[in-house]
Amino acid sequence: MSVIYERVALVGLGLIAGSMSLAMRRAGLAGESVGTARSAETRQIAREIGLVDRVVDSAAEAVAGADLVVLAVPVGAMGAVAGQIAPHLKPGATVSDVGSVKRAVIEAVAPHIPEGVHFIPAHPLAGTEHSGPRAGFAELFEGRFCLLTPTPEADRAAVDRLASLWRAMGSQVEMTDADHHDLVLAVTSHAPHLIAYTMVGVADDLRRVTDREVIRYSAAGFRDFTRIAASDPVMWRDVFLNNRGATLEILGRFTEELFALQKAIRDGDGDFLQAYFTRTRAIRRGIIEAGQDTNAPDFGRSGAR
Ligand code: NAP
Repeated sequence: MSVIYERVALVGLGLIAGSMSLAMRRAGLAGESVGTARSAETRQIAREIGLVDRVVDSAAEAVAGADLVVLAVPVGAMGAVAGQIAPHLKPGATVSDVGSVKRAVIEAVAPHIPEGVHFIPAHPLAGTEHSGPRAGFAELFEGRFCLLTPTPEADRAAVDRLASLWRAMGSQVEMTDADHHDLVLAVTSHAPHLIAYTMVGVADDLRRVTDREVIRYSAAGFRDFTRIAASDPVMWRDVFLNNRGATLEILGRFTEELFALQKAIRDGDGDFLQAYFTRTRAIRRGIIEAGQDTNAPDFGRSGAR
């Protein structure tokens, strides 16, 4: 493949930025990748493992002369980082981000973007419970969706160019509105994470997690919750603080459904439970048909990272 951006600056060098760098390098999509991170330790690791072509000590230095700047820091830090880089952006450059929440990031970042610089928010629906500069891998985005949420006024050519980068990294790109994105993600990702955190927290409160049997016999159900609940605490704190409305809306509905199921169990209403679980099974089938998961009984764990 050919170069899509001459110089790409990655601000933040964790799982997502690292995976982008490796995916871009593998396919030759960036003439040069420049990266920076907040801590000297992360920058040092990135240098040692050659995560980007050049590691620099500040965000201002990283974005100077860059054609594409990707903000890959926790959602709550996006606004401050945008403020730091704003005076150093090259005219005509594109600024994007990979934040898991879109409306709050747009509100925090857009006011800092100078005239003549394009801001095109993005969210790759791909991740793992690992974080940091060693967590990335080139295949992370393969076959996964990447949602772009440009405003209707956004420059068409700049949007197309960013979309072509994500496609070349293996993603299926779709456009959506930021508020719609936040509601959909509250259902598909944010609320499920909160439920996993709760379930693992409850088990821990019961002091069962440390019991050998619970860990040994946890098989798919609880084990999947513990994997999700091992996700980065800062990232997820920021997701909930910044997608408050949609998450609370979904959790309200969740609580109502939970009460309905609780009542059915208490009343011995097997018909209700069976009909409910039949409906949810069909959703799982839909996810597999959409190619977003494997039908393997172990969730394809043997091949998973
Ligand atoms: P990560 O591995 O934890 O890396 C985060 C990076 O941001 C690190 O380089 C960190 O620097 C830097 N950072 C943290 N706090 C900062 C602050 N206050 N100011 C400046 N820099 C800061 O995170 P990630 O998983 O790549 O996530 C990055 C973004 O992608 C987040 O917005 C997240 O919502 C989004 N996202 C994540 C996933 C996922 O599954 N992980 C999926 C899709 C999108 P130091 O290392 O120096 O502390």
